[in-house]
Amino acid sequence: MGLRRVGRVSARAGIVVTGTEVLTGRVRDLNGPWLADRLLELGVELAHVTQCGDRADDIDAQLRFLAGQQVDLIITSGGLGPTADDMTVEVVSRFCGRELVLDDGLERTIDEIVTGLMARFPDVDADAVRAANRKQALIPAGAQILTPVGTAPGVVVPGTPTVVVLPGPPRELQPMWRAAVATDAVQAAIAGRTRYEQHTVRMFGLPESGLADTLRDAEKTVPGFDRLEITTCLRRGELEIVTRVEPQHASAYTDLLSLLRDRHGREIFSTDGALVDDQVAELLAGRRIATAESCTAGLLAARLTERPGSSAYVAGAVVAYANDAKIELLGVDGEVIDAHGAVSEPVAEQMALGALRRFGADTGIGVTGIAGPGGGTAAKPVGTVCFSVVVRDDDGAVRALTRTTHMPGNRSDVRERSTTIAMHLLRRALIGAG
Ligand code: ATP
Ligand code: MG
Repeated sequence: MGLRRVGRVSARAGIVVTGTEVLTGRVRDLNGPWLADRLLELGVELAHVTQCGDRADDIDAQLRFLAGQQVDLIITSGGLGPTADDMTVEVVSRFCGRELVLDDGLERTIDEIVTGLMARFPDVDADAVRAANRKQALIPAGAQILTPVGTAPGVVVPGTPTVVVLPGPPRELQPMWRAAVATDAVQAAIAGRTRYEQHTVRMFGLPESGLADTLRDAEKTVPGFDRLEITTCLRRGELEIVTRVEPQHASAYTDLLSLLRDRHGREIFSTDGALVDDQVAELLAGRRIATAESCTAGLLAARLTERPGSSAYVAGAVVAYANDAKIELLGVDGEVIDAHGAVSEPVAEQMALGALRRFGADTGIGVTGIAGPGGGTAAKPVGTVCFSVVVRDDDGAVRALTRTTHMPGNRSDVRERSTTIAMHLLRRALIGAG
């Protein structure tokens, strides 16, 4: 992953992720990356993401560190609950030099929420609940309150830097961040942000070095190339190129895109942000697909059913490892297995056809390969995977698109990469490209 930086940066932010469970790795941090994406979209530069446990001194140290980095905005995640280990508001309040004050309206709001929740637990000590609610209704004087999504309110404390305090659970944090961005205090803190247009190009089948060559040439030939901020990232065999540009330099991006199209027209599959999954879902509308998998263990079917509405076009899936399962469930010819091996293009194609027939579908896909560990041979090492897509056209004729690939990596790499290759092969077959 590489980042080309353009000169002026005018709004900077830092994120403090709190929570001992996150610090120790028992819970994977989802909030730092999610907030990072939102800041990027806004044109705010993220300077640091720091993590610490549920300890007042440590949270305070992170706030001081970020303030020392001259950030305009600090966002904290976690520690807003009613229990004693939830202390972020108190620490932030002290850090901002503001008193903690009880907000009566907020206390009533929390009471109402909690009373609703507590109806199911009649034995809970009402006084303890009231004390807990009261604790959550203490906010720094002059702060803006963010209405609770769960029971915990967030706060925005205006200042230099402005501090946004958000709860830990991602499903609470995310809507509250959107509310925080709308506040005057946050808008003032990020007023100097750069307004970018952001574009994403996605490619498949091009090595990162090939793209690096093209970008080196672009540097020489595209006027205004130095105004583009380009991030490239290789994920699951797909190359993602995110470009940000200020509107007055938009033509530099247009020129870059036409250079990319000239050089890599075949590999570019998306220039509008769409994922291959979105494209396949669109192409499958009005069709009916069935899958037959061995080495990917149903992961392709899982991926195909991720999009809302997929039940309209996914008919069903077979996961068949043993040869007799391939023969009985998918009608694969035992002699073909004997002649070519279970991992072979003819078997992949018969699996695809078998799934198509078995489910009365018009589109079928077969995947058979060696994901490891073990099971490889000199001729077919671990990472050898055969794919076949069969598509019945309007005239009733069935055409097949069949490929074998060899990929590096361990079992989960091979499986993940295989589902991506399968999605791209499906896409190509459905748009009628070879
Ligand atoms: P609560 O009222 O639920 O206690 P809180 O704001 O006090 O909210 P935390 O106590 O810090 O939040 O975290 C509660 C739970 O939310 C954690 O146990 C974890 O499951 C989830 N969580 C917290 N922070 C993160 C994070 N950074 N990434 C993913 N999940 C998180
Ligand atoms: Mg908590």
